[in-house]
Amino acid sequence: MFLGPILDDRPFLFVFSLELRKIMLKNILFAILLSLPVISHGQEVRGSFECSKARIAQFKDLGSPNARIAFPGDPNINVNYYGLDLEIVTNPKMLMGAATIKFQTLTANSASFQLDLHSNFLIDSLTLNGTKVSFTHQNNRITVPFSIATVALQSQEAIVYYRGVPPTGVIEEGIFFENEPNSNNPVVYTLSEPYGAISWFPCNDNPEDKADSCDVNITMNNYFIPVSNGKFLGASDVGNNKKRHKWSHKYPIAHYLISIAAANYDFKQTTWSYGDSIKMDVVDYLYQRSATNPAVLQEIQRTIQMLDIFSDHFGVYPFYKEKYGHAMFNFGGGMEHQTISSMGGFNETLIAHELAHQWYGDKVTCKTWQDIWVNEGFATYLEAIYLEDTYGRSTYDSDIDQNMTLAKDARGSIFVQNTNSINEIFNFQRTYAKGAVVLHMLRGVMGDEVFFKFMKEYANGEFAFGAASIEDVRKVAEQVSGLVLVDFFDQWLYKDGYPSYSINYSVSGKNAAIAISQSTLGGSTALFKMPMQIQVFFEDGSNEIQTILVDQKESQINLENLEKNIKEINFDPFNYILKNITVKATKTGVLATENGKNSKLVLYPNPSQDFIGVENYDLTNAYISNAVGQRLSVPIFSNKLDISKLPSAKYFLHLSDGDHSLVQSFIKL
Ligand SMILES: [Zn+2]
Repeated sequence: MFLGPILDDRPFLFVFSLELRKIMLKNILFAILLSLPVISHGQEVRGSFECSKARIAQFKDLGSPNARIAFPGDPNINVNYYGLDLEIVTNPKMLMGAATIKFQTLTANSASFQLDLHSNFLIDSLTLNGTKVSFTHQNNRITVPFSIATVALQSQEAIVYYRGVPPTGVIEEGIFFENEPNSNNPVVYTLSEPYGAISWFPCNDNPEDKADSCDVNITMNNYFIPVSNGKFLGASDVGNNKKRHKWSHKYPIAHYLISIAAANYDFKQTTWSYGDSIKMDVVDYLYQRSATNPAVLQEIQRTIQMLDIFSDHFGVYPFYKEKYGHAMFNFGGGMEHQTISSMGGFNETLIAHELAHQWYGDKVTCKTWQDIWVNEGFATYLEAIYLEDTYGRSTYDSDIDQNMTLAKDARGSIFVQNTNSINEIFNFQRTYAKGAVVLHMLRGVMGDEVFFKFMKEYANGEFAFGAASIEDVRKVAEQVSGLVLVDFFDQWLYKDGYPSYSINYSVSGKNAAIAISQSTLGGSTALFKMPMQIQVFFEDGSNEIQTILVDQKESQINLENLEKNIKEINFDPFNYILKNITVKATKTGVLATENGKNSKLVLYPNPSQDFIGVENYDLTNAYISNAVGQRLSVPIFSNKLDISKLPSAKYFLHLSDGDHSLVQSFIKL
């Protein structure tokens, strides 16, 4: 989901070229975000931009113990199927439904099962496996006792017949009866994320419990063209100027990604071809005035290229046997309804963001709302990937720069602490901007090849068409990369803030001494442990890149005996780390660390073939890292390190006494 101002067809935008317009749209959002008052730590974070505030005001925070979050679904059932047969009347507003829910009971001898449906609805009757049964419906929850003892993994089928006026102005609001902007044309649409599904159908209100498929039948006045997930199976007249429209989706789907959008749409269709065998419909359901807007049409045709780019990187578009498309609705921004994103307007990065969710959010869904990063951080990062593939690395870099600026204003951890608040879950600086920057940093740590392998494996491996937590992402990242990422995830996902580095260095011929002092900003995290690339420029104009681990408050790094005379050093040259940094260079001389410790290690022999030793240092906590910053463990014998098994290369020896580290380069012959 991405909620922002509707900017699709404001007339003043026509005077600009499309490219300018793209930059402007981004900058408008950026300017709005930057103009917000600075929020100090501990103060509740309110609204990342204006219309997001409007939505939050509309949904409200949870206030009572009866609120939705008190019932995070029924953990003892596993839903297999939702079949929704809905009749929607707009004047007066009314929804009548028959919802078929197929599920399994996970435990034997369950006394009852629960479904979630807003108490505004009256339930006329409820059947279980074809028999009418008694039930209670209180505080937005239906409880149905089992009259026959259940066994584990037993299949059940409940049908709930219900009707009523859907609730408005509450956190569970999920279906909206409105008019198109600046017109009297009626529209009805749903936006269920995170807690709104219960305001239009009975469900197990838990994003982890995905159904294997769903069918949505919508009966409405002939004026409306309703669209839902998956394939359109046709429409039939049912009398009284009404039609019944049938949609069917045969892929696993989280309850909050089931959607309806209905308006007097203009319909456009094109075909996406991929590889030798894939041909898929790409459809757009547009408000009539947008359907004739050339800027809108120009933007939506980019969808085809985006499908190619994301399929190349992350595996083929997940729902290629059915469709992808957009249906306009009234929220600024968009919502990644499975196979049919709802859109408040069209601009390049918004289209990319919602499409990206089809892999990250829909194919793999957040296990809980605390894990929303696995949806929003990924989709926001994929905007940058789209920009990189389309316009080049510098456009990627400037997108990341903007996210970094916003990420520095993030307060609290990306892992959502308070899911009672919509604004906490969808906090822009934290969930989106910092969330995307974390993936950028992971790319820096892993390198491009391994990073893209990880992204693909995560979307196509164990969690494909399922649900994943932040921990699950870490496990896949570790499996694919072979790296230990506990510290990385701990500091960037579960803690807050970012590091600030103050660097002093001096060069002398082929040697350099670097002192890095770390403090932290924007949170209470005491220390960040990050690999940092350093780019050494030589006097002859050439350069080389090494990666050093900066994992202490004070680090002293000595580069010894490089091949050529050093001119200067650039730190984190590709801006992979979310940080503040100041660098001071002095011409010559070896620096002392701030606590006055001896900053020079006498390491012998260097270069060496089999062993290296250090004078006057205890090597108990010593380790070696290679040029890409990976920690290597080598045997230590009588205060000497056995490097005989290491390939010939340049390495760093790290010594630490708690807050300080001393790092010395050496060469293995
Ligand atoms: Zn999103």
